[in-house]
Amino acid sequence: MPGAANLSPRKAVIREITVREAKTPAVVSENGENARTSEYYGVNTFGVRQMRDKLPRDTYSKLLAAVRQSKKLDSDIAPRVAQAIKEWAIGMGATHFTHWFQPQTGLTAEKHDAFLSFDDGQPMEAFGASQLIQSEPDASSFPSGGLRATWEARGYTAWNPASPVFISEMGGVKTLYIPSVFIGYNGEALDEMTPLLRSSDVLSEKAIELLEVLGDKGVYRVFTTMGPEQEYFLIDRGHFALRPDLVMGGRTLIGAPPPRGQQLEDHYFGGIPERIQACIADVEYELYKLGVPIITRHNEVAPCQFEMAPRFEETDVAVDHNQLVMATLRRVALRHGLQALLHEKPFAGINGSGKHCNWSMSIAADNPDIDGYNLLKPGMTPHQNVRFLLILAAVLKGVHKHAGLLRAGIGTSGNEHRLGANEAPPAIISVFMGKTLTKVIDSIADGKAVGSAEQQMIKMGVARLPEIEKDNTDRNRTSPFAFTGNKFEFRAVGSSQSIAFPIVLLNAAVAEAIAEITVALRAELKKTKKVDDAVLKVVRPIFKETAAIRFEGNNYSDDWVKEASKRGLPNLRRAPEALSQMVTKQSRKLLTSLGILHDEELDSRYHVRVERYVKDMLIEMHTLREIVDTLVLPASFEYSGQLAQAASQSKAAGIKVIPQVAAANEVNAAIVDLQKHRTTLGKVIDKAEGMHEDIVKQADLLTGAGADAMAAVRGCCDALELMVADDAWPLPKYREMLFPV
Ligand code: ADP
Ligand code: MG
Repeated sequence: MPGAANLSPRKAVIREITVREAKTPAVVSENGENARTSEYYGVNTFGVRQMRDKLPRDTYSKLLAAVRQSKKLDSDIAPRVAQAIKEWAIGMGATHFTHWFQPQTGLTAEKHDAFLSFDDGQPMEAFGASQLIQSEPDASSFPSGGLRATWEARGYTAWNPASPVFISEMGGVKTLYIPSVFIGYNGEALDEMTPLLRSSDVLSEKAIELLEVLGDKGVYRVFTTMGPEQEYFLIDRGHFALRPDLVMGGRTLIGAPPPRGQQLEDHYFGGIPERIQACIADVEYELYKLGVPIITRHNEVAPCQFEMAPRFEETDVAVDHNQLVMATLRRVALRHGLQALLHEKPFAGINGSGKHCNWSMSIAADNPDIDGYNLLKPGMTPHQNVRFLLILAAVLKGVHKHAGLLRAGIGTSGNEHRLGANEAPPAIISVFMGKTLTKVIDSIADGKAVGSAEQQMIKMGVARLPEIEKDNTDRNRTSPFAFTGNKFEFRAVGSSQSIAFPIVLLNAAVAEAIAEITVALRAELKKTKKVDDAVLKVVRPIFKETAAIRFEGNNYSDDWVKEASKRGLPNLRRAPEALSQMVTKQSRKLLTSLGILHDEELDSRYHVRVERYVKDMLIEMHTLREIVDTLVLPASFEYSGQLAQAASQSKAAGIKVIPQVAAANEVNAAIVDLQKHRTTLGKVIDKAEGMHEDIVKQADLLTGAGADAMAAVRGCCDALELMVADDAWPLPKYREMLFPV
């Protein structure tokens, strides 16, 4: 290696990394003692529980009711609530506040306002009810899919009291964050949260109706629970900075596969390196202060890949918390000289990152017998199990009917690279149930058992259902949507996306199925006296009809692709074809009839997503072209030149055997090949940019010819990476990024 002064940037980073040390996390005090998590957990949040001490009793109970029922806040209590929040925030040292919302960018948005006001020229801290409840950002600069023309740009954000306000500490500056929804002037949804809240309300309403028919009294809400397992990579910041592709698009666009990837199976659950451990501890510390209940951390399968998972919470809050998880990971990693990669597929050829969304439904009731009851948990009594079967039937029915739409909900350019590749579920949506339940479902579908529901249940094993939690510990990890004992795990969701939209679609599909089941059950109850008997009659045809969506085998196998096609299940491999499922007649009917999205909102959302796909693709293609022109080709030319020079010197010296000639010919042939494909890439970019009127056509071009051109260019670059002298190669290689030493 040349002297330090002459090192290439790439080699300089390699040298820097060898002397990097783990940083002591902030949670460890100077004398090396750790504070207890319970001492600082939630110190930066001000939720309903903390408000109890600060508010008059009637104000508090109105606030609690608003939160419990997911209702808007009454304007008569808002001033007292705002006062309490202000005192808390200012007491904590906050100087500013912001509504914090989720426009359709996948990220969050904020605009800070000072608490500062003037009374007779005297500065003072002020914060009124109207500032708590509402603010008016300019809606024209966020994606709206044409819903908001820029000349009528007014949108506003409104506090969602179900999600606690919190103080973010950044660079020592403290700011009050108010979780909010973002809507247009006429109430149209411009964000991720509004449809989610609508879908939660609809699902609750439909489920309560069903539970009433079943004789469950006192239910005031059915809510969904969510535990999102977040996968991510942590790589050295020095490497990241030298890769334009990672900086621009979050994934490597070229990079030859290293001889060693994940084949030794030594990373999953392996020991966490010290530098990484320190970083993760800091991330967790920040999240704990914000009341985000992270409970697990571990190495994932790929080198440099990790996972963190929270204890599950009500979905509306879990969605906000997952945004905090992603933002905190990105921010805190930098302090440790690391870069968090949340992209679904940062490195080709090794595992990508998902966000396993564990989802279930629970009862909130003024009835201690069922309050807090998980509807997807098999119970102890036959009646509980009958209720469980009914909800299970609803999920199967919803997922079967709307499999295409559910695929649309996870259709992003990033996930396109992950689904169906290394150890990721395929683009085919199917449901895994486990051995015990499959037996129960099949035998109910067969319809052979006779007698009362109770007798049938004993015969079919329904009376012993608690067994299935054990059964599911040895579960199928290849399934995109798996039942795991007391919840479903939607594994096909991408690591970088907001959870909200996939769950909106799932809630919608299940709400519709529940409503249909309620109708069928009411009709059956006119003929069949006992509720439990009637339920079995209602679920039987559903278990039969939905057999196609259930799959217990290996989802990664090619046989399944063939089998699924025989079963008529959609296999939407590319994002544009998946997204088109949002606007089919069936999807439209589902979302509009339930009042989750009206026609224009749905069209705009489709537009935003397709447009995002086009933008992602074009950013990647431009980046790739630039990498080829300014990094790969110059390095290859230089190396080829060195070979030519050596060859001509050898010739001049009268040397007979000149091996550099063959080597130079090989390199030059690869360069010519690269130039050819780079030209094609440029043509596709120009063509796509020339048809900017029609984003659907653009997306089709980019997902076809565009992706092909990128793959061809990549093939040439990766071949050159393995030929060109290591010292001349400008980009950090896979082996360096994935195995930093
Ligand atoms: P695994 O990696 O084996 O799937 P983890 O323990 O990493 O399991 O994650 C399981 C996730 O499921 C956790 O976030 C947990 O809180 C969540 N979970 C457990 N019960 C429920 C439930 N009823 N509803 C939603 N999520 C749940
Ligand atoms: Mg896990």
